[in-house]
This record gives sequence, structure tokens and C-alpha cells, in this order.
Amino acid sequence: MTGGTSGIGRATALALAKLGARVVISGRDEARGNQVVDQIRTAGGKADFLGADLRDEASARSLAARTRSLAGQVDILVNNAGIYPFGPTHETTEQDFDQVFSVNVKTPYFLVADLAPDMAKRGYGVIINVTTMVAEFGMAGMSLYGSSKAALVLLTKAWAAEYGPHGVRVNAVSPGPTRTEGSAPMGEDLEQLAAAAPAGRPGSADEIADAIAFLATDRSSFVHGAVLPVDGGRVAV
Ligand code: NAP
Repeated sequence: MTGGTSGIGRATALALAKLGARVVISGRDEARGNQVVDQIRTAGGKADFLGADLRDEASARSLAARTRSLAGQVDILVNNAGIYPFGPTHETTEQDFDQVFSVNVKTPYFLVADLAPDMAKRGYGVIINVTTMVAEFGMAGMSLYGSSKAALVLLTKAWAAEYGPHGVRVNAVSPGPTRTEGSAPMGEDLEQLAAAAPAGRPGSADEIADAIAFLATDRSSFVHGAVLPVDGGRVAV
């Protein structure tokens, strides 16, 4: 689980631990990571934290290797860590561009490159990518973020084609506006963004985590290459 120290990732770590999974969470913030681990262990679950600043192939492969040596094998990979700076295209720097694509696309890509072959060899594995509703339609100010997650949407389908025949299910959850530490600075803008959807309100991290947990278990055993909108209905209307 990448990005287990906050928001959707933390809620997912708690949900998967509750289902009996041994959860390895990662992120840059060790203090927040250890808090989540303590919370899971106090509730009787199994969890560990691994520090990782995901920025390139080396950091992704290092996290994969450390997770493998800690847990033995990885059956479920949740590519949740992500950054979502918004702003006009003409104000975006090359550094912004590279940073967003490194965290949102490059490191999930190399985590899958590292972990999926072992899953395929064992004939079992689950990969879930966390995308976004703004990968599905154009929105001013979201060109960089939306395009990075649109790449992850396509990768979800490409990996389903590539690894699905070997027993590895690859799917995505596509959240709408969700209340988390990461989205808190958006303030009222989050409410406004959510108002356009049938549900008319932002989601909670737990509501997104429940969908990820569904895709992580065999209850979704016939679901491959799907992008599940959990967005209050926004992309449906
Ligand atoms: P959040 O509260 O900001 O949490 C982001 C997580 O990603 C943190 O655990 C953070 O860990 C980790 N992370 C960020 N950069 C990292 C890096 N360079 N290396 C390692 N870990 C890194 O965000 P959130 O709102 O829960 O979002 C989670 C995912 O859902 C993201 O992919 C986001 O794009 C997607 N999403 C969110 C919303 C929303 O409205 N909240 C809507 C649609 C999609 P550290 O800080 O410890 O490094």
C-alpha cells in the first residue's frame, strides 16, 4: 500500500487489516505511518511501516524489495500515493510536471514491473490503482493531474491484459472529491466540485476504502481491468 499515512490510504490500510490482511504501509512521514501501524495493531491487526519517498524507478524498486523481505511475498498492491496540485497549464513548470508524473505514474509503473511477475508466477495477485474522476473529463486547472491519472487508467487496462491471464486482477477505483488531509486546503472548492454530482457532497475516505477493499478480495473475482467510479455519480451525468 503506497501512501498509507493519510486520507484514503490510511482508511484502506485499516479496512484491509480488518479483513485479516497483513498490511505494509508506506510514505515519507514516519510519525504518521507509525500512528497508523499502532492503530491497526491496537485493533488486533497486523501492520508495518516502510519509509519511502516515491520519485523514480529506484525508489519504487527499493520499496518493493523491502516489502518482499519484510512480508515474504506481496499478494495485493494498492497504488494510492498521489499528489494533486491544480493550476493553469501556462503556469506549470517542468519541475511540477516531472514531479506529478513521477509520483502518479512512474512509481506505480515500476512497482507493478517489480511485483506483478512474482504474482503471475504464483498465479495469484491483486493490483488496485487509485485514479480520479478528472481523468475521465476535461476540467480547467486539472490538465496536469488529470492527464497523469488518465495514464494510470490506461495502465490499469494494459496490466489487466498483460497479467490477468496469469491470475493477477488489475483494477482501479476512481474517486470524486473526498475529504482527506490532502484535499483539506481546497476548502469550499471541494464542496463546489462535489455539488455537480448526484450525491451532491464530498465522499469520505472510508467510502473510497470500502470500494478498494471490495476489489482487493475474491468477492470481485470476475472483475478485471475495471475502473470503478466512487464519485457520488459525477461521471455518470
Ligand atoms: P493525502 O491525504 O494527501 O495522502 C496522500 C498519501 O500519498 C500520503 O500517505 C502521502 O504520504 C503519500 N505520498 C504523497 N507523495 C508521496 C511520495 N513522493 N512518496 C511516497 N508517498 C507519497 O491524499 P488523499 O486525498 O488521501 O489521496 C490519495 C489518492 O487518492 C491520491 O492518489 C489522489 O490523487 C487520489 N484522489 C483523491 C481525491 C480527493 O478528493 N482526496 C479525489 C480523487 C482521487 P506521506 O505524506 O507520508 O509521504
